Amino acid sequence: AQATALASFAGDNRLADGHPVPLLANVATGADAAKAAAAGAEGVGLLRTEFAFLDRDTEPAHDEQVAAYGAVFEHFAGKKVVIRTLDAGADKPLPFLTDTQEPNPALGVRGYRTDAASPGVLARQLAAIAQAAKEHEADVWVMAPMVSTPDEAAAFTDMAHSAGLKTAGVMVEVPSAALTASHILANTDFASLGTNDLTQYTMAADRMLGPLATLNDPWQPAVLHLVKATCDGATTARAATGAPKSVGVCGEAAADPGLAVVLAGLGVTTLSMTPRALPAVAHVLATVTMAQAQDLARQALAAPSAEAARQAVRAALPILD
Ligand code: PEP
Ligand code: MG
Repeated sequence: AQATALASFAGDNRLADGHPVPLLANVATGADAAKAAAAGAEGVGLLRTEFAFLDRDTEPAHDEQVAAYGAVFEHFAGKKVVIRTLDAGADKPLPFLTDTQEPNPALGVRGYRTDAASPGVLARQLAAIAQAAKEHEADVWVMAPMVSTPDEAAAFTDMAHSAGLKTAGVMVEVPSAALTASHILANTDFASLGTNDLTQYTMAADRMLGPLATLNDPWQPAVLHLVKATCDGATTARAATGAPKSVGVCGEAAADPGLAVVLAGLGVTTLSMTPRALPAVAHVLATVTMAQAQDLARQALAAPSAEAARQAVRAALPILD
């Protein structure tokens, strides 16, 4: 039965009560995008653009960037593709852009901070994204990584809109962004939670250090409280503006079926993951109603530890075993 259900995922993902929770894919290349489309992804929730820039001494030319982004867009005609601007820093260094001497790369000039320090690179990338979007029929959304303040969200959003991109948003990967989400979402069109970095910064635990894996766990109730703060901020911003203000998750957390239920219950509107995780997540989400997901989210938030949160959800959803 499991195999039949897994093979049958073909988009239009819904909870048991019909509540839609679109499942999107994380991709980096056109080849990834082809696989994601074949796996039934309803769109792309995270297109990492570092791929076009890595292992190079110079910034890729406009036409090269247009081709790299278009190679993804072409697989999702009429569907949403969320493309992230360059997420470089001393952790993912680019010779023409980064200072690799920083003592503390995770707290340094990375993500949008790099873009802000080199606005020419960002402006040229936005122009290439806008050009690729014009050449294809995908519904292209653009977002900036590692945004920490509402002012940064406003500056990026203005720049993206000026480049001709209609829908601009920011990643919530830093606790300060989660805690000021109502202001951030007043200044931008959508948010996407990067739970990998959000967990690292909430727990002060380097995500690359294996021995810290117990801390680096997105089931940590502290992380879930920040997800809730982001969703609550979006609710406030929706009421104030009348705009949809979607809040996605594109970190690894979305690929964990039990956690996907909790995230939906906390108010996350879309989930984006590695394509191979799509069937299992869809299978479990289809067994719960929104009311049940909200109840499990409340239990996970109230748990004293990541392990207790996980156990509470497991106990209620035997399908996870
Ligand atoms: C994240 O931090 O959760 C995320 C999706 O971005 P990356 O893993 O590329 O840092
Ligand atoms: Mg990140």
